[in-house]
Amino acid sequence: MIQSLLHAFFPEVCLVCKRLLYEKEKHICLHCLYALPRTGFLHRKENELFMKLANRFPLESAQALFFFNKNNNSQKLLHGIKYHPKPHHAKWFGSLMGQAWKESERTFPDVLVPVPLHEKRQRERGYNQSEALANGFADVTQASVLPDALYRNIYRSSQTSKGKNERWISAESIYTQNKNIDLKGKSVLLIDDVITTGSTIEACSQALFAMEIKELHVYSLSMAV
Ligand SMILES: [Zn+2]
Repeated sequence: MIQSLLHAFFPEVCLVCKRLLYEKEKHICLHCLYALPRTGFLHRKENELFMKLANRFPLESAQALFFFNKNNNSQKLLHGIKYHPKPHHAKWFGSLMGQAWKESERTFPDVLVPVPLHEKRQRERGYNQSEALANGFADVTQASVLPDALYRNIYRSSQTSKGKNERWISAESIYTQNKNIDLKGKSVLLIDDVITTGSTIEACSQALFAMEIKELHVYSLSMAV
């Protein structure tokens, strides 16, 4: 009843096409949800993302739910998630990631570590979208999230696209590990919203392996093509 009233007075619009959502739809309309280009990676270990990353650092598995392309709806979706002032959209997509993982019947890693934002960026944006994705994943899988396992040291202006300037910065200096968190011997699932060059994931992996983790899995909401 309250939900229906809320919907009547504050109808939500689709993150992608901006059409008013039906009461049963959440965050994205069914039409746009089914039109998102799914990767199908969870059913193939040696998928394109795994092949892109596995020769750069030791990797157990790599997954992405959607292909990200500047000309398809996934760009509007990512933008809607990233710049919305509240984390509930991202969290819901994180639960989709968790659901897909569950359906693939993979074993669950010990902990989820979201790719961290620089402190200043997180203040500007209000929250870390990768952390919200990880929380959504945890909601359906009961996995535990460690949002403070890594810190980002370098602030990048929002004009710079991911990966560009970082090529000139040694990867070890971008992220540091939290000395108060013990990940030794653990299997870790690193969560991101979009993987483009893979340089962010590579830099995080160096900090995680410095913590003597047992194995690394990577899972992103989307992968740029
Ligand atoms: Zn839509």
